[in-house]
Amino acid sequence: MLQQHYLCGGRRQDAVSGAVFAVNDPATGAQITSVPNAGEPDAVAAIDAAEQALPSWRALTGKERARTMRRWYNLLCEHADDLAVLISAEEGKPLAEAHGEVDYGLSFVEWFAEEAKRVDGNVLQSPQSDKRLLALKQPIGICASITPWNFPMAMITRKVAPALAAGCTIVVKPAEQTPLTALAIGELALRAEIPGGVLNILTADAANSVTIGKVLTSDPRVAHLSFTGSTEVGRILMRQCASTIKKVALELGGHAPFIVFDDADLDKAVEGALTAKYRNAGQACIAPNRFYVQAGIHDRFVARIAERSAALRVGNGFDRGINVGPLIDTHAVAKVRQHVDDATRQGAQVVAGGCAGEGNFFQPTVLTGVTREMVISREETFGPVIAVARFETEAEALALANHREYGLAAYLYTRDLARAWRVAEGLEFGMVGINAGAISNEVAPFGGVKQSGLGREGSKYGIDEYLEVKYLCVGLQ
Ligand code: NAP
Repeated sequence: MLQQHYLCGGRRQDAVSGAVFAVNDPATGAQITSVPNAGEPDAVAAIDAAEQALPSWRALTGKERARTMRRWYNLLCEHADDLAVLISAEEGKPLAEAHGEVDYGLSFVEWFAEEAKRVDGNVLQSPQSDKRLLALKQPIGICASITPWNFPMAMITRKVAPALAAGCTIVVKPAEQTPLTALAIGELALRAEIPGGVLNILTADAANSVTIGKVLTSDPRVAHLSFTGSTEVGRILMRQCASTIKKVALELGGHAPFIVFDDADLDKAVEGALTAKYRNAGQACIAPNRFYVQAGIHDRFVARIAERSAALRVGNGFDRGINVGPLIDTHAVAKVRQHVDDATRQGAQVVAGGCAGEGNFFQPTVLTGVTREMVISREETFGPVIAVARFETEAEALALANHREYGLAAYLYTRDLARAWRVAEGLEFGMVGINAGAISNEVAPFGGVKQSGLGREGSKYGIDEYLEVKYLCVGLQ
């Protein structure tokens, strides 16, 4: 499954310039391989291919598209082990977690293959007796998608599967660090006989990604941009899309609060915190970045979480029994280091971990006495740090949780049903886990509010992004 060409118009290609860039293993720093460094002419060619493929792909029935997607799904299932190895190799997450991501990524292909058959419009009730009114749903057209490195498979299938199911064609640009999983997914689409040009995948380094982004966001033939990544880059791309009035779907950064009330089930809260925080070494948009723990349970929660964090095994994701893999690169390590140093300088205490290891590794770390002025309370850490602040009242917890510009995911733990509803309804977030630390699946509408994004992915709503509603008014003679 190790591919060294990008995919355009159903062909495996080198960059027009012939340039390549290296893909490295974040655990060892060793080069795995190199892939084409696509640029402007490659991006234009990919849009040309998507344009050529569109008329025949959109003309298929939903059932025909569903069958083709099912073949792709079956091949992805057959190669699940290969995909997991590629994810671990280029992204670093432990192999067991990579298998989890493959299952998660597959679930979107299966779900949207099924949804292809259920794109229904409506017959509307007319206010005039001599007219009949209908709303049709049609594919939006050529789509572009730019994805991050932290979930190299799932972030692609969550976009490509609904686009294809809706009858759209798409150009995908994965992150510089993780092109290999994307190319393997594309190779299996080829083998599944998804027609050439329906799915195009361009690989590029960070500099060329900016160039490709400009082409994808400025070409008037592209109708839709779906981006998952940082809020900062989301703003740039949204601005670039304004010139051609593209529809945009933005899955951006998060800064999730994790609230534990005195009446919470301590065991469940600790398990939920560990799951939500340490998955992918804390490099997940829905990973909690702020833990607000009520005074009555605070010390017991901290003691347990510190003990469990210290027991986690950090290392190469291919080694047996590893719980926490490397961070993606040295910049990521430096950022986590900076957040921890800033917090301790301002009075936070380290009760577990606190240090970087060799290379890109960072020990699971627990800080207490965290305040809202600290950088860690404001910016995404994207690393294995549990930053705990104590609170007294429900109103205080809600105010603390809502005071940031991010609104992706939030978590709360309580046994009081009325409080669970009250707080969940008051949280300004797109997703809320109530006594649950693992909330994402293909059935759930995934997405944020405020500066965490626009639109929802997955679920029965996810395909709407890729559809336009056309109104028909039929006059009766
Ligand atoms: P990022 O720096 O924003 O990059 C994301 C993607 O955008 C990459 O493919 C990157 O390419 C590309 N890119 C960067 N600058 C660009 C530009 N000016 N024009 C066009 N493309 C550009 O984010 P990241 O570091 O990869 O991912 C981490 C971020 O993603 C975090 O903020 C996290 O919260 C967020 N995220 C959100 C969700 C969600 O569903 N809400 C899910 C996962 C991650 P290169 O890699 O080649 O630079």
